[in-house]
Amino acid sequence: MEKKRGLLIGRMQPVHNGHIQVIKETLKDVDEIIIGIGSAQLSHTLKDPFTAGERVMMLTQALSENSIKHRHYYIIPMEDIQLNAVWPAHVKMMTPPFSKVFTGNPLVDRLFREEGYDVTRPPLFNREELSGTEVRYRMLHDENWESLVPQATVDIVSEVDGIQRLKDLSKKEVSDLKKRE
Ligand code: NAD
Repeated sequence: MEKKRGLLIGRMQPVHNGHIQVIKETLKDVDEIIIGIGSAQLSHTLKDPFTAGERVMMLTQALSENSIKHRHYYIIPMEDIQLNAVWPAHVKMMTPPFSKVFTGNPLVDRLFREEGYDVTRPPLFNREELSGTEVRYRMLHDENWESLVPQATVDIVSEVDGIQRLKDLSKKEVSDLKKRE
């Protein structure tokens, strides 16, 4: 029988518990989920501190921690392109075939809907706290960020000295840091 495949793209800066929840949710609906690591070309900024490779490690280990079997997902780093209107074609070229798109991001939703894809907005889980902006804010301000992320993210951030990386970046880039909303 043909497999039902879906796509979920996120910057995952860093991977947090909301991402894991939403991946679990998508796997109730499709056999395989293609997880695009968005803005793969970006790293070492306050908004995008972690490399694509570090985010792949976080996600792979977090899915394993959550007993999600490897046969149910693909992880594919995806660089941004300048042309929003042709971005879905670019994504399609880089991924296994898929029929559904899962996203809470209005631009991603709009672009794939215009190409005729079946787009679903999964429920948001504790969005007040489970957001990359909140996790990075807490990392920078020595607040409790560990409770918002899988153990894998804690481990990789420690391995790559991620907190110090953010603090070093903040010395130059304090004006770029988004305020906690
Ligand atoms: P994100 O990491 O903020 O979120 C990823 C997904 O997880 C989203 O669908 C989001 O709704 C979901 N999510 C996050 N927190 C959640 C929570 N608490 N509960 C439930 N779901 C939650 O990433 P994003 O900003 O949506 O990533 C989109 C990516 O697509 C970016 O990298 C962007 O650059 C890329 N993009 C590129 C182009 C282009 O290259 N032209 C165009 C559009 C989008």
